[in-house]
Amino acid sequence: MTSTSLRTHSCGELRLEHVGAAVSLCGWVSARREHSQHLAFVDLRDHTGITQCVVDGASDLRGEYVVRISGTVVARGPEHRNPNVATGEIELHDCTVEVLATAEAPPFRLDDRVETDETIRLRYRYLDLRRAEMQRNLRVRAKVNSAVRSAMEQQGFVEVETPMLIASTPEGARDFVVPSRLKPGSFYALPQSPQLFKQLCMVGGIDRYYQIARCLRDEDLRADRQFEFMQLDAEMSFVTQSDVLDAISTTVRHTIQAVTGNDIGEIPQMTWREAQERYGSDKPDVRFGMELVELTSIFAETGFNAFKAPCVKGIRVPGAGDTSRSRLDDLTDRAKRWGAKGLVWMRVKGEAGHVEVESPVAKFLSEAECASLAATLDAEPGDLLLLVADERPTTCHVLGLLRLELGRPPVTDGGLAVWWVVDFPLFESIDEATGRPVPAHHPFTMPNDEDASIIDEVLAGGDVHRLLEVRSQAYDLVINGWELGSGSVRIHRPDIQSKIFRLLGIGEEDAHEKFGFLLDAFRYGAPPHAGFAFGMDRLTALLAGEENIREVIAFPKTQTGSDPLTGAPSDLDPAQLHELGLRLLPPTS
Ligand code: ASP
Repeated sequence: MTSTSLRTHSCGELRLEHVGAAVSLCGWVSARREHSQHLAFVDLRDHTGITQCVVDGASDLRGEYVVRISGTVVARGPEHRNPNVATGEIELHDCTVEVLATAEAPPFRLDDRVETDETIRLRYRYLDLRRAEMQRNLRVRAKVNSAVRSAMEQQGFVEVETPMLIASTPEGARDFVVPSRLKPGSFYALPQSPQLFKQLCMVGGIDRYYQIARCLRDEDLRADRQFEFMQLDAEMSFVTQSDVLDAISTTVRHTIQAVTGNDIGEIPQMTWREAQERYGSDKPDVRFGMELVELTSIFAETGFNAFKAPCVKGIRVPGAGDTSRSRLDDLTDRAKRWGAKGLVWMRVKGEAGHVEVESPVAKFLSEAECASLAATLDAEPGDLLLLVADERPTTCHVLGLLRLELGRPPVTDGGLAVWWVVDFPLFESIDEATGRPVPAHHPFTMPNDEDASIIDEVLAGGDVHRLLEVRSQAYDLVINGWELGSGSVRIHRPDIQSKIFRLLGIGEEDAHEKFGFLLDAFRYGAPPHAGFAFGMDRLTALLAGEENIREVIAFPKTQTGSDPLTGAPSDLDPAQLHELGLRLLPPTS
């Protein structure tokens, strides 16, 4: 419904079928062009589009004035029709103009993709929002929200709101904190996620919880990260991992279809190990090839010391054989910075079927080794081959980054490649200083049943490094190389939880202080449960074709975490500080 007490139609609505109708439109003056001495064309704009109005005596109308124009719909002559505008076949004649509000000249043009500095756009965000692109993006966002809600509700999820002022959650990032006035010296944390509350909801018998939740993490900002972001947060009782993957897949599929009209079909799965081996990443971008190829066995007997490594892998960069020496030196420097001992490059020469490799290290390799590596990599004349030999994780990691550097298309290109990555490791690394494992997720993540014996062996005095083999029941959703979200089956049994705490060196008292309320709750009967959360901002950005999530957030912060519009973050009044029992130290830098 577009008609209101002030208007009969919206500015994008009128067509030839309305010819002859007396109408009233409201909006902003987008442009004014003189037509004759008295007459002017006034383009009137609202979020639905633009209508051309032929106005008598429009000389006092300026850009961005808010006006109500009443007139008669007239068909334009064939030579004046504009096929690029939805209302381009009509215009308004006999117009009466009522100025509802005057306007100062805006500090930047609002009619196209602005090249204006982002700080200026955010300083005047309310003007920036008038642009068609922002209007479209925010409407895509609303559609995403609504599609997610309806898919979750159709699957029996119940929306439960959890608090914003909480005690710290074990999510691992830095908390934003809020001082307590009533209890000076005490602080609330703003939620990094509703993690503990949603698990409490399961103990409370909610069965299927969801929320489009605001989450806050005090981490450095990037194009795909803001301090505050929205997640679809969900938790389910009496389920296994596959039930969660099914439910979230249904929601993601439904949402993508609601916004784009395309059904992405079943979302395929890949194990974390496979993602590492083939893409050198836990968030594989599968939109392009250049996969990591295993070459270790080719060099089992090699005389070339650099290739006598636990893992040799390579990537083929099609047609990049003419890459300049300085670029290759730059790639080598990067590979070293990313942790490799070095990078071997090879230019593929010769002809199809009889390729030869040209490389500074070629003289150290046998003919059989060169032929075999070229064949295994499917090398063709004109290609560039990049090889890394190192510990397995380093080889995969560095080649994974080189692959992205050399082949990755913009995140919005080439459709949506949606994947589940499953079987994440339970522990990320072993802290050699303390001899303790570092958890890859929060400490309530359930280990894979098949690997439970390794945990028992380590607790009985076995080598702590074996813990790196333990898989968890944790999973990520990845789109076009962006980690969209993650989740896990939770530990609901106190015996397993206490083993994990023992491995992590979290004493009973410590555990009680940090998560006592959750552990207490579990003593009263916790159902097996599992959950997931995915980033609504990132999904919306991908569906709106934007690389930067700030383009799909109405009032985002800049990269330095400030809001040029409201001035946040800002100083506090001394009286407010006093009331909160706070005194500021002089700035340290
Ligand atoms: N709380 C986790 C997160 O925000 C998601 C989950 O495990 O459900 O990433």
